[in-house]
Amino acid sequence: MKKHLFRYALIAAFVAACGVFISWGTWGHQHINHAAVFALPDSMRHFFYNHIDFVTEESVIPDVRKYTINDKAEFARHYIDLESYQTNPGDSLPLTMKDAGARYDAKFLDKNGILPWYMMEVMQKLTKAFQDKKKAEILFLSADLGHYLGDAHMPLHTSLNHDGQLTNQRGIHAFFESQLPEQFGANYNFYTGDAVYIPDLQKEIWRIVNDSHRLADTLLLTERQLHASYDTSKIYLKDAAGNVVKNKYNQWVHSYEYAKAWHDALHGMVERQLRGAVSATANFWYTAWVNAGRPNLDDLDEPALTERNKKNLKRDYKLWRKGQLFGFKIDTEF
Ligand SMILES: [Zn+2]
Repeated sequence: MKKHLFRYALIAAFVAACGVFISWGTWGHQHINHAAVFALPDSMRHFFYNHIDFVTEESVIPDVRKYTINDKAEFARHYIDLESYQTNPGDSLPLTMKDAGARYDAKFLDKNGILPWYMMEVMQKLTKAFQDKKKAEILFLSADLGHYLGDAHMPLHTSLNHDGQLTNQRGIHAFFESQLPEQFGANYNFYTGDAVYIPDLQKEIWRIVNDSHRLADTLLLTERQLHASYDTSKIYLKDAAGNVVKNKYNQWVHSYEYAKAWHDALHGMVERQLRGAVSATANFWYTAWVNAGRPNLDDLDEPALTERNKKNLKRDYKLWRKGQLFGFKIDTEF
């Protein structure tokens, strides 16, 4: 546990130092990976539950990696600015990373993002890890894939206007993906049904990305309209001296009332996108395992460990069927 706390502190410190926003925030990414474990079939669920803490915590590592190891290649993996690729409606997009590399130069791809193609690459690696029954790789790549699928469900990760910078709405990214779920997510329903096999992964990835992109306009417009009709002195949270409160990442905090009004105006979009990400994560993990020939995962752990976790798994699984996640504590950002 101590080690976990230390790790959280480390992640928070790095992110704070860089003043960045983490896609979906810790709250979102951790809920996505955690809930996905329960949607897996029996034959996978025991193994993933044995390592649920790892899979949950690692969900934010792809964002942290950008800064901790200064991996410049990491940035473009988290988004795609579809408008840059589709300058005319109906423009076709490359289907694979290889096709993308043949059509665009590295600089263009780096700037405009490669999320859909990169997810496919991680999926292939995960399938191979299942085939080889490499425990550490299975867990690491599963957690990573859950992160990128989470990003793909965040509409602003598919748009050029990713922080509302083109429409005078700077700060909307973190407002949507961190403040809203942190303040209103307690009652979200995380029961998403059982994982299903995805016969055409490429098609599914593009369905997710395109669906997500279609929401970007609504996301931005609802906030813009609310902002225009709202008493401007009540939009941000203020301290006793009347100054706007900033969170630990130096982002402006919106007032609870304003956040609530926007959350209502979005008609469940935040919850729907998070639930979509949970489903997709479980579906992709399951599909990788099936494509790998359904390897037995139970022998990757000591039988005693699985046995020890049995009772808790039963309790947590029952709770998830009711839409809730057991004992979830997160270091919030807002
Ligand atoms: Zn990300």
